[in-house]
Parts: sequence; structure tokens; C-alpha cells
Amino acid sequence: KLYNQVQDLKGSIRVYCRVRPFFPGQPNQLSTVENIEDGTLTVHIPSKNGKGRKSFNFNKVFGPSASQAEVFLDMQPLIRSVLDGFNVCIFAYGQTGSGKTYTMTGPKEITEKSQGVNYRALSDLFLIADQRKDTFHYDVSVQMIEIYNEQVRDLLVKIRSSSNKGLSVPDASLVPVSSTLDVIELMNLGQRNRAVGATALNDRSSRSHSCLTVHVQGRDLTTGTVLRGCMHLVDLAGSERVDKSEATGDRLKEAQHINKSLSALGDVIASLAQKNSHVPYRNSKLTQLLQDSLGGQAKTLMFVHISPESEAIGETLSTLKFAERVA
Ligand code: ADP
Ligand code: MG
Repeated sequence: KLYNQVQDLKGSIRVYCRVRPFFPGQPNQLSTVENIEDGTLTVHIPSKNGKGRKSFNFNKVFGPSASQAEVFLDMQPLIRSVLDGFNVCIFAYGQTGSGKTYTMTGPKEITEKSQGVNYRALSDLFLIADQRKDTFHYDVSVQMIEIYNEQVRDLLVKIRSSSNKGLSVPDASLVPVSSTLDVIELMNLGQRNRAVGATALNDRSSRSHSCLTVHVQGRDLTTGTVLRGCMHLVDLAGSERVDKSEATGDRLKEAQHINKSLSALGDVIASLAQKNSHVPYRNSKLTQLLQDSLGGQAKTLMFVHISPESEAIGETLSTLKFAERVA
């Protein structure tokens, strides 16, 4: 029994990496990614003597040609575990433009083939719930929030909240759903609400964290036992460092908040990975909100994203170093 618990803990934090393809029409250039083999990614680091390279290890690396379906295949066991009563966090990390939203949601025009993790996760969830309907009854509800400058905003605010059962994000609307279509409508509403307050110049989506939380309550129809699980799908703010000499006012404040919260997240995951007795959850809004779903029996997937362009090498290396720390 103890052995199983240890095994479970060991498998509770996973780190994946995905490399974005070059944009169509982008002039051909050499990718900073030199090689991908099993879980190892090797990047080419331009230097005066031309020979710098460094390798990083992950649980899984997806190259630029990996499809959305392929990426999701590796996450599917996590979805199943939510229905078994576990808490799951999936984070998309990386600089702006590296493909976080593509992985979590999809491209601007979403087709069935290009749907991201959140759509696939929800349809899988409903599919498995349906397969189990003779033995379990599942209730599913969702929340959608944004964290901007350490302030939490409810993105489903226009919808009346149901009871407060199982609320892990205090005061954010918890909306019952019974199909993937319900969720798609809510996600669209959340996107519209998110856009409010963002000016064209100021694309706020890259400077705030957005979190779709799915709560699942399953009742065993024969024993009456109730299982609760939840899944947080988090599209993090862009990890790029803002030039302190150039940023002033609001931009500087935003940058400082992002810095602080991403490093607080890194600290929490790193200390969980090292099984430290003290885990510094209190240092940011995000880690406070997700405390119950980080550590313990919960499962975490840190999904880092990198851009292939050589001019992104600085940010690419800092993303890979972040990943190295939490692995
Ligand atoms: P981020 O959310 O990290 O800022 P995006 O997801 O918006 O980045 O990606 C930037 C651009 O690259 C978008 O136009 C997106 O559709 C495209 N893109 C990102 N990843 C991929 C991919 N794996 N395959 C095809 N296009 C991608
Ligand atoms: Mg994005």
C-alpha cells in the first residue's frame, strides 16, 4: 500500500514541452531546436564560436508537427483520474506567441481537428461519464476566472451561480453543465468577458492568467459514496521578461505581478517535486487559489512552450530553465 502511495506521488508532477512550428510564410530559417529524441530536447545556442548546444529532459517533448490529437492523447489519463476523484492542474507556460493558447484552446478559427486540450478534455469527460452511467451519476460544473495584477476576475459573471458546493475559487460563479456544447457556450462568454477592459494596444490576454476549472461530483449508484474531483486548465500570462529600462507605469506593474506569480508557481511546483515539507502557496493569488489542487494526491502537468525562432533564444532558454527547475 505504502509502495503504491510512493509511486503515486512520484508520478504526480509531469513536465511536457511543445515546440511551435514556424509561421506559414515566414522566411525559412534555422530552428533553435536541433534535435528531439524521446524526452530530450536539444537547442542550438548561437555563440561566437558557433558551437553552443544544451539538452533538456522532459516526460515528453512534442515537436512542431505534433497534432492537437497527439498532444491530447498523452493527457487523457489525467481526465480519467478527475472522474475517479483526483484533482488535476494543467498549466501552459511560455513566452507570448509560443503556442500556450493554441495548446489549451486552439487557433483563432477552431475546427474539430484544431481543438485544444480544454474542448477535448470536456468531451472526454462527458464521454467517460456516459460510459459509467449504470454505476455512477456525475454532476459537472465549471468556473472561469482571470488573474490580472493579482486580482481575480470572474469571467462567467453574467450567469447566475448555482449552490456553493465544491467551490474552490471563492465567489466565482459555478455553472452546472451537461454537455460539451454547454461548456463551449460558457467558454465563449468567458472570452467575451475577458476582452472587456482590454484595449487593442493592450492585449491583456497575454498578461493575465486564465483558468477554466471543471468540478466533477460522482455518486456511486450502489453504495451512495460520493467522489469529488476537479481539473484546472490554466493558460498562464506570457513569461517574457519586460525590459525594465523601457517599461514604466502600468506596464511595469503588470510585468512585476507576472514575474512574481510565475516564480511563485515555480517555487511551489519545485518544492512539491523535491517533496519539501514547506510549500510556499501564499506567495501569489494563483498558488493560493489552486492550493488544494497542487500537491497531496493531486496531479500536475506543467506544459512549457517554446518558439523556434533564433531571436527567441533568450526567452527559450529561460523557459527551459524554468522547466528544469520544476521537473
Ligand atoms: P500564446 O498563447 O503563447 O501567446 P498562441 O497560442 O496565440 O501563443 O500562438 C501564437 C500563434 O501561433 C497563433 O497564431 C497560433 O495559432 C499559432 N500556433 C501556435 N502553436 C501552434 C502549433 N502547434 N501549430 C500551428 N500553429 C500554432
Ligand atoms: Mg495566449
